[in-house]
Amino acid sequence: MRTEERPQARSAFQAELVARARAVIPGGTTNSASLPAGLEFLVERGEGAHLIDVDGRRYLDFVLGGGPLVLGHADPRLRAVVERSAALGGHHYALHRRTVELAERIAGYVPSAEMVRFTGSGSEATFHALRLARAVTGRAGIVKFDGAYHGHHDLAVWSFEHSPTRSPAPFPESAGVQAGVAGDLVVLPFNDAGAVTELLAAQPDRFAAVICEPFQRALAPVPGFLEALRRACDASGTVLVFDEVVTGFRFAAGGAQERYGVVPDLTTLGKALAGGLPLAALAGRRRLLEHLGPGGQEPSSFHCGTFNGYLLGVECAHATLDILVEQGGLARLEELGLLVREALRRACADAGVPARVTAEGGVFQLWFTDRPVRTAADIRASDQALLAAYHRLLLEAGVYKLATKGYVGLAHHEGHVEELAEATRWALAQLPER
Ligand code: PMP
Repeated sequence: MRTEERPQARSAFQAELVARARAVIPGGTTNSASLPAGLEFLVERGEGAHLIDVDGRRYLDFVLGGGPLVLGHADPRLRAVVERSAALGGHHYALHRRTVELAERIAGYVPSAEMVRFTGSGSEATFHALRLARAVTGRAGIVKFDGAYHGHHDLAVWSFEHSPTRSPAPFPESAGVQAGVAGDLVVLPFNDAGAVTELLAAQPDRFAAVICEPFQRALAPVPGFLEALRRACDASGTVLVFDEVVTGFRFAAGGAQERYGVVPDLTTLGKALAGGLPLAALAGRRRLLEHLGPGGQEPSSFHCGTFNGYLLGVECAHATLDILVEQGGLARLEELGLLVREALRRACADAGVPARVTAEGGVFQLWFTDRPVRTAADIRASDQALLAAYHRLLLEAGVYKLATKGYVGLAHHEGHVEELAEATRWALAQLPER
């Protein structure tokens, strides 16, 4: 919808809901990321590639539930699966045949996956990957990369957003973290192979794990970086963890590790896996996963969770993987991402605004800079104020996208890509001369 046609004023009903939300939910209108002040909305429903708010205003959605909704909102195929598996009792706390089949399926797709344990969220998967690595190696140290996000637990809430390039000292993103964690963490710049190689060579017995997002937020790995991680970990007996919560079942059936040809020891999966239902997994080498308790080999790393491997999520995962892997969905995601990249590039060039645009596997982002963007420091050096202003305007124009990255899904089509380009042209035209 063109911006000038959009009803701008929020109804009194919606304004009241926003105020009620602020009173009872910390942070107001979200339980996760927050929206720009004055543009908060309450969603009424999702439909394909759109969210519709309580006033009936439609938003073209490039957030897609934070990544999981690869089929779009309220996909009729998933709705039918939910109905069918709910009729069998969607959760049993007893192993179901379909859960075994899903583990086998993941082991067939993901190169590092010899065994699979299901979890409820990506954060649980990364937490257990790191604890398992520590249990098996008997070491405490962990290397993560500046700007990478691995969830909300105590080992993860470091240097993902606000880190003022203080590497290698980790920057806390939260108060209240268990004492002593910072001493076990070293934060290095993404895409700096030399930094990892030197650290692990200098202190070969210190680190249990190196954890990375192989495609970090929206940063592509430079050629040779992931290979260098693999070599440095092999040389020092360090467990290499690929956090593929975003890239799993999106970059390829086997995730980023298949796309880039580097196989880690442990892999965390989530988001796209079940097409919108909460389901995640920790997969990896048998010699490591065999130590997951209860019932694992010593030293045993405890892992348990009420909803781990529940039928409703598992059946939605099978249905989503059918579409993504067997019916050409992955190729279409890639194609849409590349169309978005070209459309955004053109829109920025037409507006004379220097921008770098990236897209892989349907994950896309733009940064306002004329320099290459390879690290979190490069992102911080780009025009962040312009990025925030642009995203605020996008939302005003009825396009829902977060400032960190965007997702395309199979409910998007070429017309939606053109709408995003239109909204971008309009937004950039509103901005003051720089
Ligand atoms: N790892 C990555 C790469 C993620 O993007 C996220 C979620 N944004 C997580 C882990 C945490 O997953 P969850 O929100 O399901 O706990």
